[in-house]
Amino acid sequence: MILEKQIWVWADYRNYFHSRVTLQILARASVLAKKNNAVVCAVVFGDRVDAYAGEYIAHGAQKVYVIDDPALKVYNVESYAFLLSTLARQYAPQILLIGATRFGQEIAPRVAKQLDTGLTADCIDLDMDDTGRLVQVAPSFGGNLIAKIITPHTRPQMATVRPGTFQELPHDDDATGEKIRRPLPENMPKPRVRCLKSELQQARVRKIETADIVITGGRGMGSKGKFKKLLDLAYLLNAEVGATRPVVYADWISQEALVGQAGKHIRPKVLFSFGISGAIQHTAALADARFIVAVNKNPNATMMKLADVALVADANQVCSGIIRALKDRIRN
Ligand SMILES: Cc1cc2nc3c(=O)[nH]c(=O)nc-3n(C[C@H](O)[C@H](O)[C@H](O)COP(=O)(O)OP(=O)(O)OC[C@H]3O[C@@H](n4cnc5c(N)ncnc54)[C@H](O)[C@@H]3O)c2cc1C
Repeated sequence: MILEKQIWVWADYRNYFHSRVTLQILARASVLAKKNNAVVCAVVFGDRVDAYAGEYIAHGAQKVYVIDDPALKVYNVESYAFLLSTLARQYAPQILLIGATRFGQEIAPRVAKQLDTGLTADCIDLDMDDTGRLVQVAPSFGGNLIAKIITPHTRPQMATVRPGTFQELPHDDDATGEKIRRPLPENMPKPRVRCLKSELQQARVRKIETADIVITGGRGMGSKGKFKKLLDLAYLLNAEVGATRPVVYADWISQEALVGQAGKHIRPKVLFSFGISGAIQHTAALADARFIVAVNKNPNATMMKLADVALVADANQVCSGIIRALKDRIRN
């Protein structure tokens, strides 16, 4: 047991150049640590993960707990949850933060259960109250309320945070920190699930949370075929494509593109919104968009009221029109 207060950020380094969520949470942890005189620590498991440990130090971690072993080459939720809760029992962090990536969403509840503590999922903000307790801000009751949740009795205070919620600190080459290498525990259980094969998904939408231009489409696009026009437009504008929940449920685009309470938080310089009504569960993730252009048949749609430019028109026609105009410009 150590006496200093520690804030832990569990490091999900898969798709590192596309998913910066660990760095984003480290940035917020640094702010919280200053308020509470705590030490920011990253925790990374894997095979040859030393380079990542250095990167986390350059982005705000003062300590990095590393378990580096060939047995951890392939992510396995059972093993990783066991390792994280074993280390947390040993070092007793006050706070444990995890990115709400697919893997983070799997591991966090398991670790919370093993540590017999609470967990707030999908936080959209984190703060510290006057007594040093973590204030976990998350949408609740279907997104109709924003709840501030504290964990008064058990430790660590655990939360998952959606990618894109916070902005990472600039890389600091001169930053120094301590790497604490730990061996695989001898009592590590053999995982019951074996990964036979894994391959990278070649989707265009992986960078949506950091893209400067995002094009989002909703049910108003009409069909899967018409929705595809947004991908053409995105290609011409070097933009990324996001979507509302009905669109993802209808399989017009993959889950990775979901923007909103249950998906990604985005912060583009320009957001184009086509055929989207503007339900709170969607718009909660748009607060950091700098300039919004909305196209909707209904002038009274909430999305139109949020927009800097609101175009009352058919979303398909506008999309096709912009594509034609851009192609003409390229040709000329
Ligand atoms: C717990 C919970 C979590 C949720 N999480 C999310 C989330 O993360 N993300 C999310 O997006 N939703 C989420 N939802 C769903 C959310 O409440 C809305 O149902 C959803 O965002 C609506 O999607 P939409 O705007 O595409 O569809 P609709 O609400 O059906 O709106 C379609 C819009 O298109 C317009 N339109 C129709 N035809 C045209 C046309 N030809 N041209 C132009 N405009 C047209 C209409 O006027 C309308 O405004 C969640 C709901 C719950 C209960």
